[in-house]
Amino acid sequence: MPEECIFCRIAAGEVPSDIVYQDEDFVAFRDIFPQAPTHVLIIPKTHITSAARLMEGQQELAGRLIMIARKLAEKEGIAERGYRLVINCGSQGGQQVPHLHLHLIGGRQLSGGLG
Ligand code: 5GP
Ligand code: ZN
Repeated sequence: MPEECIFCRIAAGEVPSDIVYQDEDFVAFRDIFPQAPTHVLIIPKTHITSAARLMEGQQELAGRLIMIARKLAEKEGIAERGYRLVINCGSQGGQQVPHLHLHLIGGRQLSGGLG
């Protein structure tokens, strides 16, 4: 685990966060600067720099990431009204934290644009 990676440190419990879900392989916690009433980040505990670095053997992991988001959307009560799932990838994709994370955003009307 890269010592300087903030999300690895959150996954290891070294940096406090508002954790909403955890299992052997994933952690989900509330974004520190929420863009909507629900803004959760779902991450694999293992350090994967971005979606661009996913290996063939990590297909199942990538699928589980989305399944966790689906279940958390239900738990947050936003599944019926709708929500957005976002993975920013690399510098032009707007990725700021270089540890793969899926944003689950909802609880308000989101614009149609993708900026
Ligand atoms: P990105 O732009 O990389 O897709 O998203 C990174 C997200 O991580 C941002 O929405 C930012 O607010 C959030 N974030 C950055 N540092 C921390 C932190 O230390 N704790 C939490 N909970 N969220 C963070
Ligand atoms: Zn990391």
